[in-house]
Amino acid sequence: MPKSPTAPALPCHTDVLISGAGPTGLTLAASLAQLGVDHVLIDRNAEIQPGSKAAAVQPRTLEYLDRIGVSADLVDGGKKGRGFCLHDREKALLRTSYDRLSTPHPYMLLASQQTTEEHLARRLEELGGTVHRGHRLLGFAPDFPGITATVTTPDGTLRVVSARYLVGCDGVHSTVRNAAGIGFPGDAPEQLVAIADVRLKPGSRAAASEDATFFLSDAGLLLLSPLTHGLHRMVASVPPGSAAPDVGDVEALLAARGPAGESGAVDEVVAAATYRAQERLAERFRSGPVFLVGDAAHTHSPAGGQGMNTGIQDAGNLAWKLHAVLTGVAPDELLDSYHRERQPVAAQLVASTSQFARIATLTDPAAGRRRNALLSAAAATPGITDWLADTLAQLDISYTREPDLGAPRIGTRVSPLTVPPDGLRWTLALPGPSAPQPDHQVSRRGPLTVRHVPGLSTTLLVRPDGYLAAAGVPTDQNDVTDLIGQCVPQ
Ligand SMILES: Cc1cc2nc3c(=O)[nH]c(=O)nc-3n(C[C@H](O)[C@H](O)[C@H](O)COP(=O)(O)OP(=O)(O)OC[C@H]3O[C@@H](n4cnc5c(N)ncnc54)[C@H](O)[C@@H]3O)c2cc1C
Repeated sequence: MPKSPTAPALPCHTDVLISGAGPTGLTLAASLAQLGVDHVLIDRNAEIQPGSKAAAVQPRTLEYLDRIGVSADLVDGGKKGRGFCLHDREKALLRTSYDRLSTPHPYMLLASQQTTEEHLARRLEELGGTVHRGHRLLGFAPDFPGITATVTTPDGTLRVVSARYLVGCDGVHSTVRNAAGIGFPGDAPEQLVAIADVRLKPGSRAAASEDATFFLSDAGLLLLSPLTHGLHRMVASVPPGSAAPDVGDVEALLAARGPAGESGAVDEVVAAATYRAQERLAERFRSGPVFLVGDAAHTHSPAGGQGMNTGIQDAGNLAWKLHAVLTGVAPDELLDSYHRERQPVAAQLVASTSQFARIATLTDPAAGRRRNALLSAAAATPGITDWLADTLAQLDISYTREPDLGAPRIGTRVSPLTVPPDGLRWTLALPGPSAPQPDHQVSRRGPLTVRHVPGLSTTLLVRPDGYLAAAGVPTDQNDVTDLIGQCVPQ
């Protein structure tokens, strides 16, 4: 592959070597660039891969992407999905609406993964970063206190890069994970998932809903969701050995599982694939100077649109910790909290998506009827659909086991509607005055932004990724800066 005249040379040393420039690697690199952390991002591919893959960006992810200056453009070009529906053919069983979510983004943003990656890559460039494309990580060796990695360049030569930390954002078949000897136990169910981005005929009943709709039937699961550019995403469970669906296959799936009586609804299949969703979780997310992020650390059924979102939030959790440790603000133990905080989130996700995939693909009619009755009953139970919306939007993710007794809990999300963020800076929110403070009246010192927030009952110290680090802290900025170094989540 010819080397582009503008491609920067691969550095020999860096603080953080990131292998893989999918959504998680790009998020990590953009975050580190914003924080001024020296890093190198490599990807074996010559360019961003076309195709849709993950199509839903959840509110919690948009909140993080706000902090690194990506959400506004992404939202402008995407489509706002209102919520999720579960149907038995045309009969609605349960609907969760995102409308009432307490977030600046009360919707599920529908945008192709390719578009999300393009926006992240553009932002990385704006921040002075780059992706070394066509560079493949072959392996690494320990080189205390960091690692030395071997990389092939686009012209096939071997290069060595030494780094204090290595982050594997290199997907399900992660070279970093394998070279680090980190186990990736789990299952690989036989069943395939068929994915197609389709143009439906105007007036088709399948196209009528603004929601992502799961059709549950004895014939199997079918998900239909609006996308941008007048397209719809279809996802369906299909038998092993099935080929990527064409127009006839999608119409047959819609006819068997979608709104009853619908036929000939598809004009065009724009992109299609089948893949085998695995259910796996890395045994460790950190091993000394090595970290796993995104699909390299966890993979599961795509039902619910959670995978890419979880990876982006992994990256957000790790970025500020690397910055704090590399700048000497916090001890190295802070980095252990990456595994402690994110592995349980991923474990829960693998378990819940697996359970959902199982109940959504019941083929026994009696069991299907019981499931549907249960879902209808759940929909009628106050609070259930709001709880579900919070969960799918990933707004309920927290790093505490403390029960909610009404007081601020360390490790819970602080809504940006309560304490507006200031990029990836720490925020000290002080009670009062009664009117919201304009942005130019906030004060900034070192890594800390101080703002007064109406209605707060106590002082809150908010982490760069939007979680509560401390409550009732001193208000003197020097004391708080010292406190930041001691904020090692337990
Ligand atoms: C067909 C399909 C459909 C999907 N649909 C959905 C969906 O609807 N919803 C959902 O949430 N998720 C979906 N997913 C999963 C989603 O795409 C992933 O969760 C997401 O891509 C994970 O991002 P990542 O950055 O961790 O890894 P990846 O996107 O896999 O990126 C890994 C990157 O690492 C690079 N790389 C790998 N090895 C090396 C190496 N040795 N050296 C250098 N670079 C390397 C690769 O080139 C790649 O760019 C789907 C996946 C597929 C395949």
